[in-house]
Amino acid sequence: MTTVESILSRYREPLENFPLELAADWKKRHADKKLVGCYPVYHPVDLIHAAGMVPVGVIGGGNRLEIAHADSRFQSFVCSIVKSTLELGLTGRLDFLDGIVFHSICDPARNLGSVFKRNFPKLMVDYIHFPQNMTSPYTIDYLASEYLRLKTSYEALTGRPIKDDDLRRSIALFNEQRRLLRELYAIRAEQPENLSTVESYVLLRIGTLMPPEEHIPILKEALADIRARKEKPKDRIKVVLEGSFCEQPPLELIESLEAAGCYILDDDFLLGWRWFLEDIATDGDPLRNLANGYLRQSVYSGVKHDTREPKAKHLIDKVRETGAAAALILSAKFCEPALFDYALYKRALEKEGIPHLFLEFEEKMWIFDKARTEIETFVESMLFD
Ligand code: SF4
Repeated sequence: MTTVESILSRYREPLENFPLELAADWKKRHADKKLVGCYPVYHPVDLIHAAGMVPVGVIGGGNRLEIAHADSRFQSFVCSIVKSTLELGLTGRLDFLDGIVFHSICDPARNLGSVFKRNFPKLMVDYIHFPQNMTSPYTIDYLASEYLRLKTSYEALTGRPIKDDDLRRSIALFNEQRRLLRELYAIRAEQPENLSTVESYVLLRIGTLMPPEEHIPILKEALADIRARKEKPKDRIKVVLEGSFCEQPPLELIESLEAAGCYILDDDFLLGWRWFLEDIATDGDPLRNLANGYLRQSVYSGVKHDTREPKAKHLIDKVRETGAAAALILSAKFCEPALFDYALYKRALEKEGIPHLFLEFEEKMWIFDKARTEIETFVESMLFD
């Protein structure tokens, strides 16, 4: 049986060195397949798969990538992921992709889509304008029409039509992947002593770099291994982590947070790959089902404009439901959506009497002593309060 330990020893190092190399290597073994990069946060990957292509999470360059060219295209005060993604493109590390898609999550991501279009004319570069009004009776029609436009782009890229049944099959497959990921997260929330956040992160992140047909069996074996674990709980404080929905913190930082005395019961890492709270319907119009899922069955996020329920209420509910004692707000430096949210989260957490710690990170950060000291002080203040 494949164990979580063996999965980590196979994938952790590549993920820390240059995550996209896993997908680039996969392409070398499957030269006839087309790969489409998905910038965070959410993309309807089911549609790429239904076109016979493989969706690949282009989620930054990690902390080993030197930014030598991208700085000249962006001002200094934008988040790291925007620059590292452009650097990957300018240094030929995205040449294995046939297309890349961006989303209307924030101004830097919006601009990055345009910069890619101008700098990489041979690459299919597309963009989804997600709805800004979730209460309009026309929102589903609007989003389904965006997906239809994108479907046409994918059909042009592959030269073959995407039939409704193809898309239904892909949705069913991703439903299975998302179901397994929900199970992974449920185990961690209930028995964090049996699954570390670094382990669950690696299990999730590799799924953004390979087809779901390969990821699902790995997840199933890992879950069987995790269910058999019987670790003794340690004396740690239980927290939920929020704010890392787009740019990703280095694995060493996540590890430091745990080593400093936390069980992280829930987080918003790689949120787009587990975007739905339940299965997407596989009967009826599949584009409308995906659009309906975005509107009615998806997670809350700093980049989803939804006035129906305050995000802070979701965070408070998450703390209460998981039984966490505190919240860690871990935001990418210069990430405006995360910083805007923090103002709301701070007020709500203080009102509810829930302790919290705010930390900033950059994907290229190397030194974790400061973050570790801050979290250790926070943990001690709670343990010995
Ligand atoms: S990290 Fe924040 S600011 Fe940067 S692209 Fe992502 S959402 Fe936008």
